[in-house]
Amino acid sequence: MTVFPALRRKKVDRLAIAAQFTPHGAAGAAGPIAGRFMKWLFLRVLATAVLGTASASLSGTAQNPASAPASSSAAPAAPAPQPPEPSSPSGKVIFSRSTDESGNTTTTAGLAAQTAPKVTAEPTAVDADRLSVAFTALDLEVHLQTAAHRIAVRARLTVRNDGKNPLTRIPLQISSSLNWEQIRVDGRDAAFPVATLNSDTDHTGQLHEAAVPLPAPLPPGQTLTLDTVYSGTIVPSAHRLLTLGTPEAIALHSDWDEISPDFTGLRGFGNVVWYPVSTVPAILGDGARLFDEIGRHKLSLTHTQFALHLTVEFPHGNAPTVALVNGQAAPLRVTDAEGLDADLSGIATASFDAPALGFVAPSLFVAVRKAHPAANLTAYAAPDNNIAVETWLIEDAAVTPFVQEWLGSRPRSPLTLLDLPDPEDAPYETGTLLVTNLGVGPADRLDGVLVHGLAHAYLASPHQPLPAWLNEGVATFLESGWVEKQHGRDRALQMLESDRPSLALIEPPSPGTSAGVPLALATAPVYYRTKAAYVLWMLRDLTSDQTLSTVLRGLIADGESGKSPNGIPARSLQALLKQAGVARDLSWFFSDWIDTDKGLPDLTIDSVFPNPAQAGTYLVAINIANAGYAAADVPVTVRTAKSTLTERVFIPAHGNAVERMVVMGPPTQVQVNDGTVPETTASVHVKDIHPQSPDERPARPPGSSSSSSAAGSDQPQE
Ligand SMILES: [Zn+2]
Repeated sequence: MTVFPALRRKKVDRLAIAAQFTPHGAAGAAGPIAGRFMKWLFLRVLATAVLGTASASLSGTAQNPASAPASSSAAPAAPAPQPPEPSSPSGKVIFSRSTDESGNTTTTAGLAAQTAPKVTAEPTAVDADRLSVAFTALDLEVHLQTAAHRIAVRARLTVRNDGKNPLTRIPLQISSSLNWEQIRVDGRDAAFPVATLNSDTDHTGQLHEAAVPLPAPLPPGQTLTLDTVYSGTIVPSAHRLLTLGTPEAIALHSDWDEISPDFTGLRGFGNVVWYPVSTVPAILGDGARLFDEIGRHKLSLTHTQFALHLTVEFPHGNAPTVALVNGQAAPLRVTDAEGLDADLSGIATASFDAPALGFVAPSLFVAVRKAHPAANLTAYAAPDNNIAVETWLIEDAAVTPFVQEWLGSRPRSPLTLLDLPDPEDAPYETGTLLVTNLGVGPADRLDGVLVHGLAHAYLASPHQPLPAWLNEGVATFLESGWVEKQHGRDRALQMLESDRPSLALIEPPSPGTSAGVPLALATAPVYYRTKAAYVLWMLRDLTSDQTLSTVLRGLIADGESGKSPNGIPARSLQALLKQAGVARDLSWFFSDWIDTDKGLPDLTIDSVFPNPAQAGTYLVAINIANAGYAAADVPVTVRTAKSTLTERVFIPAHGNAVERMVVMGPPTQVQVNDGTVPETTASVHVKDIHPQSPDERPARPPGSSSSSSAAGSDQPQE
């Protein structure tokens, strides 16, 4: 049974709170479910004043706590016996209340007590149903009771059948610590079975799935609106990680989502499923399936309209100071009258609207933190870190000129830093929000993190979210650019190289084996982060720093105007390159690396012919082969004892190129690729022509292959 903690209230308190509390959207709410939810919200507040009223159940409906569903946190898949659904919808309550002998008022999930959905042993929905449901709009009224770790939500959902066949039921899933209470289709109550699914997309390792039957099948392409109510508690759960054998202390630093008075963090699908989803169950440790499903979920929400109206009931004197929805600040209106009963809850409300979500899992953060504003960011620190946070602000000032060089004078929306409760808690980022413990780490690490976060702040657009590969790709590209600026190009390329093997693993070895993934549809970080960063490094090398900067500023400006529909950049990257003055035809690059996925190139130095020419010069002919299906434009370097000459060479997919270079003095080494073009195996190829003593050999870059051979002959080397 779900029970709010006892609340003692005085009548005088009612007016102070009720006068301030106007649930957002009340005017537009329609239908019985809306009426009831609104009524509940009001009564939750009004009832705080009712003291000593015996058995104050709402709407005159007798409560029946005995039949409330068992608390389902970490519940086994086997369901508890449930009463059948009563037929009369009228007079249902969402929560019911009672006051015990000592005057303590309790509130129970009254609707569940009235009309508990049927819980089935086996889910009735199948993956085909789950994959067909696309959410085109999510409108959430969220009520948090932070002291009780409780959430109650009324969610109005618009779903579209993106499948090929008519849908007869809509699967809707939430965390297993939450319970479905009511679902209406076309204004009528649906009798829906609920099943418990094992899925590590939630920290409890399980989801509660309602399979909502439809009065008539939903044809492909058609949409439908559902009106739903659910509630429950969200406390930290390490269940899914404990199952894998992770020690609990470590697991809880990873799965830190919870509702509490000081800090509420709900990261959404993949961590805690606090809003309804329709997804395929996925288990940690089953290859990349869980992460693929998280990516698929985020991609499916790219164009989803999203609204959230938040009401937070907090312990008197402990008002939240910041609310962040999908990483963006939602101003809080707080009512916490002084001089009233210390037991009285305060109320804070906030609203958030987005015409399109972008590539995110909706998240909600509410916390008691002190704001520290800086030029490009606001850091919200817990009391412990009010001093340490200054380091972040200093480093922000240090990295800002670098970010400005690339992206312009100021970010489109500020970066937000939110302090996590424990120094060991795993950081998390979404959009322009970075959630991390703000205790001081090494300045070097802060710098990289800040450059990355600021890039997101520059690229943020409420009108026209960029595809993940540009948003995350630019952030990662600039992060490596900062490393280059501080520690040189080799260190930056090392950073890229560390992720290349995972990319090589996932890329199709040939177009025949798999279709690959165009970057715009990428759902895996290795594509939208690693490959995207490489693509930007290559674009920079194919053009210039100045050109790429102009293109990126163009992307930002397009997002600013908000004119383009459907999240498609107003001007394509190709158009932006042209406008930036790039005359060279880069269509091969777009077709092999961005718009379609041809895998990675696979280069080898087939042969080197160093021939003495006039006046001490040498003509060096270098044959390069590409066994991969993506063309590559790489730097080729010939070194002599005293000089270095680099030229760029284009090697077509599944083809060869011969480059002839003239150098002063006998060549000692040829290098093909410097690591900026990712290849299937090594991304740097070095051939020594005139082996010197080992001391004189240049250090070999990471990820390199090398060979050596005698020089001075006109025979092919190797
Ligand atoms: Zn990022």
